[in-house]
Amino acid sequence: MEESLLSREPLAEEAQYERQLRPRRLDEYIGQREAVESLRVSVQAARQRGECLDHVLLFGPPGLGKTTLAHILANEMETQIVPTSGPALERGHDLMGVLTNLAEGDVFFIDEIHRLPRVVEELLYPAMEDFQINFVVEKGIHARTMRIPLKPFTMVGATTRPGLLSSPLRERFGIFHHLDFYDEDELTRIVLRSAAILGAPIEPAGAAEIAGRARGTPRVANRLLRRVRDYAQVRGDGTITREGADAALTLEGVDARGLDRLDRRVLVAIIEQYGGGPVGIEAIAATVNDEAGTLAEMVEPFLLKIGFLVRSPSGRKATPQAYRHLGYRGQGPVQLQL
Ligand code: ADP
Repeated sequence: MEESLLSREPLAEEAQYERQLRPRRLDEYIGQREAVESLRVSVQAARQRGECLDHVLLFGPPGLGKTTLAHILANEMETQIVPTSGPALERGHDLMGVLTNLAEGDVFFIDEIHRLPRVVEELLYPAMEDFQINFVVEKGIHARTMRIPLKPFTMVGATTRPGLLSSPLRERFGIFHHLDFYDEDELTRIVLRSAAILGAPIEPAGAAEIAGRARGTPRVANRLLRRVRDYAQVRGDGTITREGADAALTLEGVDARGLDRLDRRVLVAIIEQYGGGPVGIEAIAATVNDEAGTLAEMVEPFLLKIGFLVRSPSGRKATPQAYRHLGYRGQGPVQLQL
């Protein structure tokens, strides 16, 4: 339960809830000031020229608002969004079907764009660059390239792993924004906004308590809000207070910094099996029985951000703050638990 509550990925039953809470305009989008201001200029410039917005690549950990921004861009440009994801576009045919149906100015959103199969990716190059699809018909000496013109569109790609994008694909984007973890103040505002939409009475201190445990991630903040709201309704008088939020989240096993079981297992592995590090991510992954990619994408960024991990050329090290948080005294010799 603990793991799913703090998971950075959307849970299955959550889609409807997330849609309800999703900001629709740039003005409603909290935080990420640089990205928002820069996009505001890009949108206005494109609109003044009566052109499509340049292709946009958004990257950063899950749950920080990439999909939300893609929808907002379509709203701000007053066009439609056509969403899909890298793994959903299995064959070139799938992509051609979508592209040829785009209307002028549509936002074509590909989530997890780093997972696009190679053949599909190659079809995208001329589509993004010249708004046309090239494909080869027949074989051998009769082979010829057919060109299908497309209506100009804006491609918005989102990825948690920008390093996995090939450079030809990356080069075809004109606008890049890295979304970073939110600070507690921004998350508090997100919680207050979401509570207002849900009609849940909340005190500012209650919102701050939730924000502090949301691991810098709006998706997690909204999820914790849902649990705390239930608790306030059943155990309290319906208003979300600091005490109520604390009690509810403690009951759910969310620790004071919002770490989940996997985060804690990673830290404990580094401390107990590797004397605090430095240790390579592959070795940590093998110890906690998870994939190095998952750790690099889901676990490491937040632990680095809050200073529980540091990265050195020889690997990852747990910091004194991590030791303290997990209740180890000092950084002295630790007991090996095999
Ligand atoms: P990503 O695509 O990066 O995984 P999403 O865009 O799906 O993340 O965001 C997850 C949820 O978090 C959304 O439903 C939305 O309600 C909320 N959210 C994300 N960013 C913001 C923001 N800047 N302001 C308010 N709510 C946000």
